[in-house]
Amino acid sequence: MDISVIVPLFNEDESLPHLAEWITRVMTEHKFSYEVIMVDDGSKDKSWEVIENLSKENPAYKGVKFRRNYGKSAALNVGFTHAQGDVVITMDADLQDSPDEIPELYRMIKEDGYDLVSGWKKKRYDSKLAKNLPSKLFNATTRKMSGIKLHDFNCGLKAYRKDVVKSIEVYGEMHRYIPVIAKWAGFSKIGEKVVQHRKREFGVTKFGLDRFINGYLDLFSIMFISKFSKKPMHFFGLIGSVFFLLGLVSVIVLGLQKLVALSNQVPMRLITDSPYFYLALLCIVLGTLLFVTGFLAELMGRNSPTRNTYLIEKELLGSDKE
Ligand code: UDP
Ligand code: MG
Repeated sequence: MDISVIVPLFNEDESLPHLAEWITRVMTEHKFSYEVIMVDDGSKDKSWEVIENLSKENPAYKGVKFRRNYGKSAALNVGFTHAQGDVVITMDADLQDSPDEIPELYRMIKEDGYDLVSGWKKKRYDSKLAKNLPSKLFNATTRKMSGIKLHDFNCGLKAYRKDVVKSIEVYGEMHRYIPVIAKWAGFSKIGEKVVQHRKREFGVTKFGLDRFINGYLDLFSIMFISKFSKKPMHFFGLIGSVFFLLGLVSVIVLGLQKLVALSNQVPMRLITDSPYFYLALLCIVLGTLLFVTGFLAELMGRNSPTRNTYLIEKELLGSDKE
């Protein structure tokens, strides 16, 4: 099979028939063998009935329905596990992404050898204040922190080599960082294609401004997990030690000052009257806490079922028989 299209959707019953018709048209025109996996993220409208009808008419249309709303990442993840096509394309259900981009995305993965191609909504038809501006900020930070040169991380329209989607896992709200997760999994050939973007015709947007706060927190989690999940002590141990040593040195200096003053019989205030004493104390306590956190994290890491799971690209192990 050439292409799997994955469509996460939540209350999009008006858009779905148009979207399906358009995808089918593009696929038949280009003679692709394909499947479309619609993942209904707990819709309360008629979305699932629409999907059932589509699937009756055309067996290439498949559907999964969540019992409740789990979020776009969950929907994508389920789509990824079911996808069979050589190239996997994700697309929003609201008709803001154009299926006409599919052939070129497919070509870029197949012929140009990209692992992942992300859409770039260069000209964007969303509200300026609520979406476009915060998005610019968000993309700039993610670019800096991840080192991936993409303009539009969060574009719903993306294409992947099948390997990629079978090797990564998205949950929570991490769909915004799939390129970062893919890079961390070792897929470094990440490309970008300017895509057409359209106004939302039916329904309303499902993401408000809170996505920015959550988005940034997720970015920190991802960067932390990718750098330190297998060696948390390197993170906590280092800052813990720095704090602890700082505190220890300060306490020693304070004590020595007092001793010198005593032996010279110069009057000096009590150690506990000095603000530095309390700062030093704080540093020692914080340092110890961080250090112990590091140990606890290491213990948890040892118990993780994935502690020795590595993504293997190729193997030359000869035959197993002697
Ligand atoms: N979506 C989803 N689960 C959710 C929220 C959104 O599957 O909890 C889907 C939604 O139906 C759409 C896509 O994710 O197909 C993108 O959502 P939306 O268009 O609301 O985001 P925007 O384009 O406004 O950023
Ligand atoms: Mg949209």
